[in-house]
Amino acid sequence: MLEESHFYFTRAADVLGLSHKVREILLAPQRVVKVEIVTEADDGSLLHHFGYRVQHSDARGPYKGGLRYHPEMDEDHAAALANLMTWKTAVVDVPFGGAKGGINCDVTKLSTAELYEITRTFVEGIKDVIGPNRDIPAPDVNTNERVMGWIMHEYSKYHGFSPGVVTGKPLQLFGSPGRTEATGRGILHVLGEVLKETGRSMSKITVALQGFGNVGSHAARLIAEQGGKIVAVGDRLGGVSNQDGLDIPKLIEWAAEHGTVEGFPHADPMQSADVLSWDADVLIPAALEAALTRENAGSVHAKIIVEGANAPTTPEADEILRQRDVLIVPDILANAGGVSVSYYEWAQNIQQFRWDLERVNNELEKTMRRAYGAVHEIASERRIDMRTAAFVLAIRRVAQAALSRQPMRRGMEL
Ligand code: NAD
Repeated sequence: MLEESHFYFTRAADVLGLSHKVREILLAPQRVVKVEIVTEADDGSLLHHFGYRVQHSDARGPYKGGLRYHPEMDEDHAAALANLMTWKTAVVDVPFGGAKGGINCDVTKLSTAELYEITRTFVEGIKDVIGPNRDIPAPDVNTNERVMGWIMHEYSKYHGFSPGVVTGKPLQLFGSPGRTEATGRGILHVLGEVLKETGRSMSKITVALQGFGNVGSHAARLIAEQGGKIVAVGDRLGGVSNQDGLDIPKLIEWAAEHGTVEGFPHADPMQSADVLSWDADVLIPAALEAALTRENAGSVHAKIIVEGANAPTTPEADEILRQRDVLIVPDILANAGGVSVSYYEWAQNIQQFRWDLERVNNELEKTMRRAYGAVHEIASERRIDMRTAAFVLAIRRVAQAALSRQPMRRGMEL
């Protein structure tokens, strides 16, 4: 996975003509932490996991990035996703660097008490490398506001009251209005910009969506509220479709109750994987990485892809889709709404002042539109795709910050 994220970096670094020295400085993570997590299960047996935190870059501010609880979480995943965070925070121009981490656990096999103990022990292991001015975790796959609340509580035991140590917290624990749905709302805004660009309206489009968790369900709800038809949704366990548009509020209720969209009565059942090639104008992959590959990219029907997930498109798939003139709004732009509102949450925590939802949503819209505009301008000027343009913008910003804090040496000019 790390190799793939380096591929997109290199493509943009070539456009910028970056020297090897600068590439090396920008690519290497600054710190990699691995901690052993041994806890007691409800039945008294021992549970054994590993926790990771990779801090890629703090050139533009404290490290920032989510925590993922997934059996496949490892150092390689954390490093690749940390790397992406550095570019993402730079694209939306929030004053953070990039990090990522998580635990290689299977949440479906753990009780709440076991998950709490695993999280608490993880924080014990990383408490000296995170902090409001150091590294600020947030929710990612299989973590949520409750887990963020636990982390804040545990960290505060060691360092005193520290709401700014994590974002995506519950409202009653100094979270921000609008954070839970922020990534989905950001997707709505970039999709709106693409449609404006191509002379279409939200009420005339059909959308296929992979993943119906935090990102996917909120994106679906907001797009449907603006008149877009969500015609197919696939998740880990199954899929459903309806060419007249799925009833998204009802589907959200169903998924909350059953843990999957499968079996939703007001729709036709389908194979989850078919969602990627579904007959729709827009495809939103919002599940996990490497959903679009060399094998399935040729059968994608949509002409617009908005990447809700991180790294959902492998470089081979990206090439096939570019040749087929599919417009891809890349992850580091499309799903940056979450980290943008995380920044507002952190700023509110530091100021000990609360913004209302209207202010959060207005700021988010401005941030996403500004970022889209900046990426689009580079893409048009240089005649390159949106992903390469987003990386060009991000790498330039990070490199300028990283290099201006060092004495200038040969081979380190921009
Ligand atoms: P989540 O755990 O809330 O939801 C994940 C969804 O993906 C679930 O519906 C699950 O069933 C589905 N899924 C898992 N494996 C699948 C498979 N093989 N096929 C189809 N569906 C599958 O996670 P989330 O927070 O919504 O994150 C989704 C993606 O968005 C991840 O790549 C994450 O890194 C990225 N992301 C999340 C945020 C955020 O704010 N939560 C921000 C930026 C990017």
